[in-house]
Amino acid sequence: MELERLTENLNLVRERISRAALSSGRSASDVTLVAVTKRTPVEWARHLLNAGQHNLGENYPQELWTKADSLLDQVQIQWHLIGHLQSNKLKRTLPLVHMIHGVDSLRLLAAIADLMPLAQNLQSLCLQVNVSEEESKHGWTEQSILAEADAIAELVLHKSLPLTGFMTIAGWGTDCQTARPAFVRLRGLAESFKARTGIALNDLSMGMSGDFEAAIAEGATHVRVGSALFEGLESP
Ligand SMILES: *Cc1c(COP(=O)(O)O)cnc(C)c1O
Repeated sequence: MELERLTENLNLVRERISRAALSSGRSASDVTLVAVTKRTPVEWARHLLNAGQHNLGENYPQELWTKADSLLDQVQIQWHLIGHLQSNKLKRTLPLVHMIHGVDSLRLLAAIADLMPLAQNLQSLCLQVNVSEEESKHGWTEQSILAEADAIAELVLHKSLPLTGFMTIAGWGTDCQTARPAFVRLRGLAESFKARTGIALNDLSMGMSGDFEAAIAEGATHVRVGSALFEGLESP
């Protein structure tokens, strides 16, 4: 019964994504849903995979390792690390992930560059920018990412890093209206970064359960949705 609810929630979120995309003249296929399974049982992730939801996101490297281990038989899975990644966790994390959303310092980017041979499934890296400037969040500020743009670009070009975009968290518990300015700023910042470095940033990872429709209206290519998928379910 529980898992039926999960399927229903998934379908509902997908419908909301399609509607938001269409109403801003985009196609639903322009937006990737990353189902955030942090702190949920691995059976739920397995159920999502069976329902065709292959992009799964985790915040904590250790939780990702454990779940990846339990789901080794699921070859279609694409793991996204969306939380803070410490350099000492890179060796175990890099071989598993398809996309890292929260690269939050030049030092981490350099550490990833050194270990790229391990990153056999890695398709893309996003730099995390704290456009709403809440104390509790990791990432560059708008000023600091432009100040370090040349150093970032040099690393990306010399080490052939798959830098594809920016990521932000508008805020915790934000809704579409309160979050929208942060999304506008992230998009503008990606344009400034491109003008400065020549690196095209085609991915914008932004939007969570409370605000993903606004993010899609502002150009999100990846929405990271957790609680909306698990509404009404109770962990066993
Ligand atoms: C938990 C989390 C999400 C998902 O948030 P919900 O509001 O549950 O959809 C998205 N992004 C990050 C970085 C998170 O930590």
